[in-house]
Amino acid sequence: MSMYVSGVDIGSTTAKCVIIDENKKIVGKSLFPVGVRIVEDAENAFKLALKDAKLEKEQIKFITGTGYGRFKVHFGQGIVTEISCHAKGAQFLFPATQTVLDIGGQDTKAIRVKDGEIIDFAMNDKCSAGTGRFLEVCADALDYKVSEIGDLSLKGDKPVKISSTCTVFAESEIINQVSRGKIPENILAGVHMSIARRSVSLMRRVGIVPEITFTGGVSRNRGLVASLEEVLETKINVSPLSQYLGACGAALFGLERILDPDNDKKVNKELYVE
Ligand code: ADP
Repeated sequence: MSMYVSGVDIGSTTAKCVIIDENKKIVGKSLFPVGVRIVEDAENAFKLALKDAKLEKEQIKFITGTGYGRFKVHFGQGIVTEISCHAKGAQFLFPATQTVLDIGGQDTKAIRVKDGEIIDFAMNDKCSAGTGRFLEVCADALDYKVSEIGDLSLKGDKPVKISSTCTVFAESEIINQVSRGKIPENILAGVHMSIARRSVSLMRRVGIVPEITFTGGVSRNRGLVASLEEVLETKINVSPLSQYLGACGAALFGLERILDPDNDKKVNKELYVE
């Protein structure tokens, strides 16, 4: 009979849950917007992933919470920081990863990994500049959905320089550029280049060593992937699963513990078991 574990990643914007089997195959997943009732949102994300996997909760042997709201995963047995989980998830999908860029709803992280260990990380969680929230505000200002603006930015051939890094000022700068007759494609090309440059400066703080893997919800934005590749002058790894990699990493920590409980401290230094 198969054995299953789950990772539940509670971010500032979305809850992600994955269920994997002992062969590390993803058998179920869910993505759920986070509101004010974080405990319920976490439970719902787990229930939806169970449904997707056609499993009952009793069949899940270990649940690990991660992300900003990881302490709200009350039904879990373990907790791991999102930095460790994104690093693990990125190496799971792309084993040659040495640098991870994670851009989520409200923060950006650059992580350096070597031989499966995190050797350095840098984080911007003080303001929303350059994060998913920043892109959402820019999309709103131009009356588009956040899922549309990446592709639109790729059509811009004359990027408009966006000098404001603050989300609030960027919004008024965009409105000002519209009134000057600049088209959304070019404004968005400028917005994406400005975020890419900011992200690369954060990555420089930890050192940029290929392969580079882009995780978090913003990695779904093809315009930003292209801008990052232009600034970095190299290809980066990205997958349709990239938004789930924190949850995947959490599930994998749980799996390691189940498969080797005697070796818990060595294998799972990160895993805090309640
Ligand atoms: P967190 O873990 O911090 O809650 P996520 O990693 O889930 O955040 O990322 C959320 C962000 O991902 C959103 O703010 C949005 O900018 C971006 N995003 C989500 N879905 C899409 C999409 N379909 N296309 C482009 N960007 C997206």
